[in-house]
Amino acid sequence: MSKKTHIAFALFLSSYLFRSDPKLLLFIPVIFVSAMLPDLDLALRSIPFIEHRKTFHNIWFMIAAIALLWILVHDPLVTRLFSIGIISHFLMDSLTKKGVMWLYPLSNWRISGPLRTGGLIDSLIGAASLLASIYLVGSYFAVF
Ligand SMILES: [Zn+2]
Repeated sequence: MSKKTHIAFALFLSSYLFRSDPKLLLFIPVIFVSAMLPDLDLALRSIPFIEHRKTFHNIWFMIAAIALLWILVHDPLVTRLFSIGIISHFLMDSLTKKGVMWLYPLSNWRISGPLRTGGLIDSLIGAASLLASIYLVGSYFAVF
């Protein structure tokens, strides 16, 4: 998925959580960072062993990132929100043709879908996520 769609979907998740408990608004940055973290491999791909959709897009990276966060902050809520963000990233990327090799480097088996990153459906998911976020937050404040 495109960066815009990942951000829009993270906003949707944050808005949904906000509806369930407005205090969770304070944790929006956690979801945003975790939803974008796997694509750090794009920024670091000039380093020889780092490849996009491989190095940071697998279950081992996810477990290590969640464990590291748990060690650093030892907060169940922050860790849960971080996990939601990073899992949502993997699930959304799994909908694309390139997919995600969840078990890399142990296996090149991948989960992939029909969507093209940056394609129409990708953009529509991003737009729908954004509209849903606006609705969720707006209806909470009785704007709609
Ligand atoms: Zn990704």
